[in-house]
Amino acid sequence: MIQTVLGKIAPEELGICSAHEHLSIDLSRVKKDPDTILDDEQGMREELEDFYRLGGRSMVEVTNDGMGRDALVLKRLSKATGVHLITCTGFYKDPFIPEYAGDWKAEQFAQHFMKEAAEGIADTGILPGVIGEVGTSKNEMKPIERELLIGAAIAGAETGLPVTTHTTLGTLGFEQVQLLTKQGLPVDQIIVGHQDLNPNKEEVLSVLETGAYIAFDTIGKNNYRPDGERVDFLLDFINRGFEKQILLSADLTRKSHWKKNGGPGYGLVLESFIPKLKEAGVSDSILQQLLIVNPSRAFSIREGS
Ligand SMILES: [Zn+2]
Repeated sequence: MIQTVLGKIAPEELGICSAHEHLSIDLSRVKKDPDTILDDEQGMREELEDFYRLGGRSMVEVTNDGMGRDALVLKRLSKATGVHLITCTGFYKDPFIPEYAGDWKAEQFAQHFMKEAAEGIADTGILPGVIGEVGTSKNEMKPIERELLIGAAIAGAETGLPVTTHTTLGTLGFEQVQLLTKQGLPVDQIIVGHQDLNPNKEEVLSVLETGAYIAFDTIGKNNYRPDGERVDFLLDFINRGFEKQILLSADLTRKSHWKKNGGPGYGLVLESFIPKLKEAGVSDSILQQLLIVNPSRAFSIREGS
C-alpha cells in the first residue's frame, strides 16, 4: 500500500508520479531569497491542475519540517485536484534542520520519525508516506547529517516507509546507500535523490549497482546541467538494464519555477522531457516503467516491518 495525505491507496492507483517535488516550501531563512517561498495555496492548486491536465496523477512532496512542510495544505490540494499527494517525515540537511533537533543523535531522529509515522504529523492525523528528503552536503557528510541518515534508516527499517534522500549536486550517493543499508534498511527501500546532477557517470553507476533507486529529479534545471546530458545518461542507464531503478521529477522550489510566473511548471517532465526521450527512441513501455511502475514500487510501504 501507498500512504497518501488522504489515506492508503493500492500501488496501481498511483498513476503517473513525480517522485520529488515541493508545493509548500520556505527556504528563505537560509537562502535569504523570497523566491524560495511557496505559500500561495490558490497558485499551488492551479499548478497542480495543470500537472493533472498533462497526465500527472501523483506527487511525492518531500518538504519536511524545517523546509516549510504543511500537511493540511497538501490535504486540501489533493481533495481539490484529485492528485494523490504523499507527504513526508524527516529533516533536510545542515543548516536546514530545525533548531530543536540541532544536536539530536540518530536514535532521537528515529524516534521522532516513527512517532510521526504512527500518530501523524503534529495534530493533523495525516500520516507521512515517505521519510525524506534527508540529505548530505556537497562531498561532505556532516556529523549531524550522519546522525540524521542513520535515524532515517532505523525508522525506515522499523516502519517500512521508503527513505528518499537529497544529495548535493549528486555527490555521496554511494556513501548514503552504504550508511543506510548498514542499519538494516533494505536497499530497494532507498531512493537516492538528485543523481541527474552528478556528471561523474561511474559514481552514479556505483549507486545503481547497489540496487537502490535513483532519482533524475532536477529535470529542466538547465542552469545546473543541460537536459541533453540527462537524456544521454538516462539512455545509457536504460541500455545497461537499470530501467527498473530510475524515477523522474523536477524538484520545483521557487515562485519563478511556476507556470504563472513564466516558469516551466510541475508538468515539465511530461510536457518537455518525455518527448525528448521518445525522440531518442525510448519505448512507451520503458516510459511507463519510469513514470508509473517504478514509483508504485518505490513508494510502497514494505510489509512486515
Ligand atoms: Zn527537493
